[in-house]
Amino acid sequence: MILVLTPNTPADSVEYLALIERLNQLPDIKHRIHREVGTEVTLTEIYLIGNTRMLVQETMAQLPCVEKIVRISEPYRILGRHQQGDDRATSFDYNGVRFGQESFHVFAGLCAVDSRESVEAMMKALQEHGQVCTRMGAYKPRTSPYAFQGHGQQCLPYIFELAGKYGIKVIAMEITHESHIDEIRAALKETGNATGVMLQVGTRNTQNFELLKSIGRQQEFPVLIKRGFGITLDESINAAEYLASEGNRKVVFCLRGMKTNMGDPHRNFVDFAHVPVLKRLTRMPVCIDPSHSVGTRAASADGILDIFHVVAQGIIAGANMVLVDFHPFPERALVDGPQALRLNELKYFLDDTALVRETYLKRTALAAAASAL
Ligand code: PEP
Ligand code: MN
Repeated sequence: MILVLTPNTPADSVEYLALIERLNQLPDIKHRIHREVGTEVTLTEIYLIGNTRMLVQETMAQLPCVEKIVRISEPYRILGRHQQGDDRATSFDYNGVRFGQESFHVFAGLCAVDSRESVEAMMKALQEHGQVCTRMGAYKPRTSPYAFQGHGQQCLPYIFELAGKYGIKVIAMEITHESHIDEIRAALKETGNATGVMLQVGTRNTQNFELLKSIGRQQEFPVLIKRGFGITLDESINAAEYLASEGNRKVVFCLRGMKTNMGDPHRNFVDFAHVPVLKRLTRMPVCIDPSHSVGTRAASADGILDIFHVVAQGIIAGANMVLVDFHPFPERALVDGPQALRLNELKYFLDDTALVRETYLKRTALAAAASAL
């Protein structure tokens, strides 16, 4: 059971303290408090864990500060969608950008940062096309220990400085160790917080529970978590729930294809049919990563790249974000050059995604009209 408190309930008010006192007296029931400090409101939810079937919903709703009660019917306690009437938020704001199950953003950028020159060319092009989000890989998890591992901490100052220069508000950046959070925080501070970072959990770390817990313990940065490439959807959603259970519910879930040779000749088996499933089961915005799913620049007989086709498939099904590899000089890219789109394809890519998004919105209007019949 979740007690949703009246917005902006102060944690030192008499009513709040009385509520906690009452909860402490409930036999066999523990509670866990989640407080989310937003720009305008502070939301508090209290999760009751234990034998909650004994509790009478109407009585609990009468407790001080309680605005409403949500009965938990799903295993994903925080990020899941529960009974009808669970109208808890499906969006969050970060650095002036809204991420939700209604919004749509493209994160085009470098798989791996190789030079200041590449970062600048990428960000300049993004600004010219009205984009405020990007991806920039600094810490790269690689199959071979001898492969380029990313420039790490050393490249952060120029990435953040250039992001400020070109009006980039949110950079998706994978981290592979909790110490990277401090490195990112320190580098951002040095640039006067010129931009924002969405921490990315890579598919190889989806079940690195200790990393998830440390990312979840901070609420400063939102998180994009990739689906694990060899585990079930349920296991991956539970991984996202680790982040939220530690206190950070600003979580975006990203599909990136599954590792199986059934997907050949694509690098991974594209799983974007799960976009609507995730939106039904959870309150997370859903991202698709066509670059790591498809992994090649192969095109079909219609002249359209497979990457563009799968992006369209994800957006037409309601995807809220597209994380996609671009590179100004793909032949010089140190990681994943062959799958990168080129800067002269950026406008075409954005036009194509806008077209499909518009069609998706028309489909939702059609569905609403049909359900009113
Ligand atoms: C990435 O986005 O750069 C990446 C390594 O993706 P994944 O974790 O999905 O392989
Ligand atoms: Mn990559």
